[in-house]
Amino acid sequence: MPDETLACRDCGASFVFSEGEQQFFRERGYDNKPSRCPDCRHARREGGGGQRSQSRGDRQMTDVQCTSCGKDTQVPFVPTPGRPVLCPDCFAQSRAGSGGGGSRGGGGGGQRRW
Ligand SMILES: [Zn+2]
Ligand SMILES: [Zn+2]
Repeated sequence: MPDETLACRDCGASFVFSEGEQQFFRERGYDNKPSRCPDCRHARREGGGGQRSQSRGDRQMTDVQCTSCGKDTQVPFVPTPGRPVLCPDCFAQSRAGSGGGGSRGGGGGGQRRW
């Protein structure tokens, strides 16, 4: 198999799909050719999974009313209907409050007794 010249679907640059790479692909069981040049492939890997990072950066804020205190607030996700939505304050409180019955520190006033 001679080297093949392919065009990158991302940047349009032509790149060589070398004999060695073709063999590598075949060994791995890939029967399709790479569609991106090495640069773009690398860039995509660095980017941490292209299409998935869509929600990152522009977070969609949704206007909601806090089910606990009734305050208008915004949350960075679309709340599930029927589930309580808390404003940051109440959320922090509920987390602190519902920490579970762990008797942390045993109520000692900082001084440790052996
Ligand atoms: Zn490219
Ligand atoms: Zn609240």
